[in-house]
Amino acid sequence: MKSLKNLYRIGYGPSSSHTMGPGYCSQFLKDTYPDADKYIVTLYGSLALTGKGHLTDLIIKKILKDKVKVIFDYKSKQEHPNTLIGEVYKDGTLLNRHTFVSLGGGTISIDGKICFEPEVYPFKNFQEIKEYALRNNITLDRVVDRFEDVDEYLNQVFLTMEKAIVRGLNTEGYLPGELKVRRKASIIFHNDTPVEKRIHLLSSYAYASSEENASGNKIVTAPTCGSCGVLPAALYYYYHDLSYPLEKIIEALKVASLIGNVIKQNASISGALAGCQSEIGSSCSMTAAAISYLEGLNINNIEYAAEVAMEHHLGLTCDPIKGYVQIPCIERNAVCVLRAFDSCYLASILTDLSKVSFDTVVKTMYQTGLDLSSSYKETSKGGLAKFYSKNEK
Ligand code: SF4
Repeated sequence: MKSLKNLYRIGYGPSSSHTMGPGYCSQFLKDTYPDADKYIVTLYGSLALTGKGHLTDLIIKKILKDKVKVIFDYKSKQEHPNTLIGEVYKDGTLLNRHTFVSLGGGTISIDGKICFEPEVYPFKNFQEIKEYALRNNITLDRVVDRFEDVDEYLNQVFLTMEKAIVRGLNTEGYLPGELKVRRKASIIFHNDTPVEKRIHLLSSYAYASSEENASGNKIVTAPTCGSCGVLPAALYYYYHDLSYPLEKIIEALKVASLIGNVIKQNASISGALAGCQSEIGSSCSMTAAAISYLEGLNINNIEYAAEVAMEHHLGLTCDPIKGYVQIPCIERNAVCVLRAFDSCYLASILTDLSKVSFDTVVKTMYQTGLDLSSSYKETSKGGLAKFYSKNEK
């Protein structure tokens, strides 16, 4: 398993696979061939079909400037749905050609090799992590401490999460793009309809972070940009409203990272490969684990909370309207954080009766994702993206 630094990436939205990943690919081309006078970057599959809404071409042009020509190839098929090919030219001669794949959460491969991500943990799945923790009589956050020193990094991660929420709560107006979606975090935050305080606050925090992402602002992938509102909302709530110490929040981030990394290693966190269950379902599992840890539940409770959180997202489609990470994405983050609390509640009383392990639900999620039609995997060809019409309000 890789470092949690590869899971929690601090960067700019709106998409880890469609913005951050292609950004890293462009940076690679620029750094490797600084003397090139022309780059041609061709986007395929999901990157082509939803690239405009995800601002993929903009990030490539931002890095490679006017030397780059970006081509959207809507027809050709590549092995992976998030493939881009970069060609490098000098004096009219092709110097080199690289095939990049944006694997989700900002991870990329170049010519078949996954970049910049050494193995850090010796675990294949959650069962192995659990056995290690029980054998050594340590909590899950301590498992992380045994393999990497990340406290300073996680401080930055949480600070970035906090700042995004505060900015989001204090910004009004409309999100970028043609959908003319109104920002809602501040509307929810200032609404005085009687409702349980927790629901009110968590929803507004999740909207705030997700709206910052949709605006292309600085956020943390948790585990992706599209699902970046869920875990921050819960952690901010514990820190800001329940006055949990920062140290505890950092520990919860560690616990959540193990869940996210198990999913990333054994399945996928890419909506283009496995649908929204792999993005928002993963964030729900991570958040349910974090909440369970903060509530003082044990390792079996944590596992079951993460399992419940994923199980009831199975089959969830990715169908962003016009490719923007706005509808259904932002609202989905708010619903998801509430569901994470429900999962924790069920785990607190039903763990001993549970029948399905976390590893089993991860395997199930992946196979379900592979079986999903490509119309429902970040292509904007099915679901809401297909049936949405401009006449809707
Ligand atoms: S629908 Fe889900 S997977 Fe698809 S872009 Fe939105 S958040 Fe990401």
